[in-house]
Amino acid sequence: MTGQIDETHDPRLRSWIESANEPTTDFPIQNLPFGIFRRLDQPHTTHVGVAIGDKALDLHECHKAGLLSGDDPTLSAYLGPLDLSRQDAVNLRQVLSRLLRDGNEEIQKYRRSPSCSLDPIIAIANVEMLLPVSIGDYTDFYASLFHATNIGRRFRPDNPLLPNYKWVPIGYHGRASSIVISGTPINRPSGQTKDDGEASPRFGATRALDYELELGMFVGEGNEQGAPISIEHAEDHVLGYCLVNDWSARDLQKWEYQPLGPFLSKSFATTISPWIVTPEALAPFRVPAFARAAGDPQPLAYLYSEANRARGGLDITLEVFLLTEGMRQRKISPYLLSQGNARDLYWTFAQMLTHHASNGCNVGPGDLIASGTVSGATAESRGCLMEITEGGTRPISLPNGEARTFLQDGDEVILRGYCQSENFRRIGFGECRGLIGPGRT
Ligand code: CA
Repeated sequence: MTGQIDETHDPRLRSWIESANEPTTDFPIQNLPFGIFRRLDQPHTTHVGVAIGDKALDLHECHKAGLLSGDDPTLSAYLGPLDLSRQDAVNLRQVLSRLLRDGNEEIQKYRRSPSCSLDPIIAIANVEMLLPVSIGDYTDFYASLFHATNIGRRFRPDNPLLPNYKWVPIGYHGRASSIVISGTPINRPSGQTKDDGEASPRFGATRALDYELELGMFVGEGNEQGAPISIEHAEDHVLGYCLVNDWSARDLQKWEYQPLGPFLSKSFATTISPWIVTPEALAPFRVPAFARAAGDPQPLAYLYSEANRARGGLDITLEVFLLTEGMRQRKISPYLLSQGNARDLYWTFAQMLTHHASNGCNVGPGDLIASGTVSGATAESRGCLMEITEGGTRPISLPNGEARTFLQDGDEVILRGYCQSENFRRIGFGECRGLIGPGRT
């Protein structure tokens, strides 16, 4: 259910696009993530492409040139990531891997031919990335036991984890309308807050703006309303993955979250990385689901399969960097705030999706399911400032002498994610960036 390892994963494969062969690139020929962009040399149309090194391969131009179809008729009608079945995506990966492989001349020949009016290879620096799919709905889970425990401890020191946590994947319904692509400026939100000791709340700009480091999953094929998705088939519905920053105003959240959970403290903006990393690319980085401690309940039958237990996890290193205005002026590199791993999630994406649809709720193509803040067992792997600064009580020191409890205007948060192992080529997600600006009134 989790994809096969084949020749496209061979770590020895090299591309004729030289930047794809650099050891630190996120986009070697073994990755091939999808994105939607506007070319600066043709700004009135949108194009679908794959990232390869520091370039994008424009699939619309490849399609026009007849380079994609081969003997597969579905690929000749290819329009975007959501038009493909899982099997089509596997086939397309094979085609693209061959076209971009060292020694293959087909694209180069086409580029030199008179019929080539627009170069199918374009520098990523010369495109504007757009949302990769039309996101109909957005659900955010709470799948890290460590995050849930750290946050819970702030409210209930002796009993941090609520009794349902190890039985039911907890989530809330997020807001799809305010999801933005990496690089979009974030306006500081305003809202109601009430400090301890104050008699009544006030309305104003948040004083506790935070990020949340998360992994997102796009749904490919949806389910019919009333028809649950079994754990065995959950991964057939996965289009791919991206990085997610679930911006959070903690002071708004503290005042509004009871009894129905977060609302305006989260819905002002969510930033995602632009490239969809496919399940096929991630096949070499599958790991067992989180090993539950002795004494923890086993998942109920509808959330359990042997395949999910054995390979439901994802070994993806996830990092957060902070770049303040002061650091930017002095040309100081972004500062690493934390490093975690998606394998530390208590619930797998298959379990989250199965649970989501278990009551008959329909998910649709392009829906975004996010993991919740990814935190690990150590202090270095806490995935938000609320945890790192213990609710704003322990400021962190930055390399230029500045201190932070929560985010200030001019701060930029940068998420990165990558997979590496001994036997396979390192692949990455690119960046998920957002710069905080003053709010509008
Ligand atoms: Ca979240």
